[in-house]
Amino acid sequence: MDEILLMLPGPTTVPKRVLEAMSQPIVNHRSALFGDILTKTNNLVSEVFKTENKSYTITGSGTAAMEAGISSIVNPNEKVLSVVGGKFGERFMKIAQSHNIDAKELTVEWGTAVDPKDIKEALDEDEDIKAITVVHNETSTGVAAPIKEIGKVMKNYDALYVVDTVSSLGGDYVDVDGYGIDVCVTGSQKCLAAPPGMAAITLSDDAWIANENVNSNSYYLDMKAYKKSGDKTPPETPYTPSVSLTYALYEALKIVKEEGIENRVERHHKAAKATVEAVKALGLELFPDESVSSATVTAVKMPEGITDKEFRGTTRDKFGVELAGGQDHLKGNVFRIGHMGVVSYKELAITFSAIGMTLKGLGIDVDSGAGVKSITESYL
Ligand code: PLP
Repeated sequence: MDEILLMLPGPTTVPKRVLEAMSQPIVNHRSALFGDILTKTNNLVSEVFKTENKSYTITGSGTAAMEAGISSIVNPNEKVLSVVGGKFGERFMKIAQSHNIDAKELTVEWGTAVDPKDIKEALDEDEDIKAITVVHNETSTGVAAPIKEIGKVMKNYDALYVVDTVSSLGGDYVDVDGYGIDVCVTGSQKCLAAPPGMAAITLSDDAWIANENVNSNSYYLDMKAYKKSGDKTPPETPYTPSVSLTYALYEALKIVKEEGIENRVERHHKAAKATVEAVKALGLELFPDESVSSATVTAVKMPEGITDKEFRGTTRDKFGVELAGGQDHLKGNVFRIGHMGVVSYKELAITFSAIGMTLKGLGIDVDSGAGVKSITESYL
């Protein structure tokens, strides 16, 4: 099978070193040997989250950590404010509701970012709100939320600050302690460039205090269990973890550390800027406003006269570049370019040459080389 270049907002291309790490022999997951790998992995997660708090890995996708996070700090019938400006904000709200938590939606127009003032207003209106959920990087719309500024607002309230960094950790600025985040969750298959299937979570002291008063109605995702096992010496996970995926995540995090977290974030920002410029050079239109456009995924309006099937089908089948489509009501109306993980000049040059050729081939009046030219100029 010819390798397809994954320009998706996850899963992303996994470096060979990480793939090879997975082929190591399976060891007893309740052994000092595995405990050592788990300790190192969890410590690296905390380093990337930028927190002094302990982090825990969960075998499951990012959604597992979202569910573990909210259901472990809020009781059924208690109130949560969920910022919803896309599919993943909505998912966080629905997860809370599935635990009978009274999650109220703070609606944000898709393609725009939440205004921290609106969060302040909502918290002023209802002092019973126990937590807010925010998605840092709304992957469905390509919008980055101002999590640092929201953190400044949250410092004046008792409500816990829960942030989904599934598609931003390792690719955009995340500073759990600096921004005052109480619960932060992420997944393996995006900017960290590990295979899908692992999630990670960290909780602040305040979140752990809240946890003591919560009778989680989740079994697999009860954070009390992860803490109890994870705080043993050597640490363990409560249930059998994916040993191979833990090796992979550990290797991927070592690569993040070797590159340097700041360098990696800057590389992502550079790729995002280059992508936006190339999109404009091809005469295409961004879906969100450029000022809130994400560092890790760019959402672009589908040009008139072609279908999503024709467009993404051609980039994939003819040119070997896999792009993502729109979600929900954006299906068919936008396509998304993921520039996460290992992405740099080479991947973007191939991607924009494929996009240019595809558009031209489908009869769009475009200078097919304009995107690649723009990429080369961005990286000169
Ligand atoms: N949150 C965000 C922002 C995401 O982009 C995704 C996945 O695309 C998720 C949560 C859910 O992650 P997973 O698909 O790993 O469960």
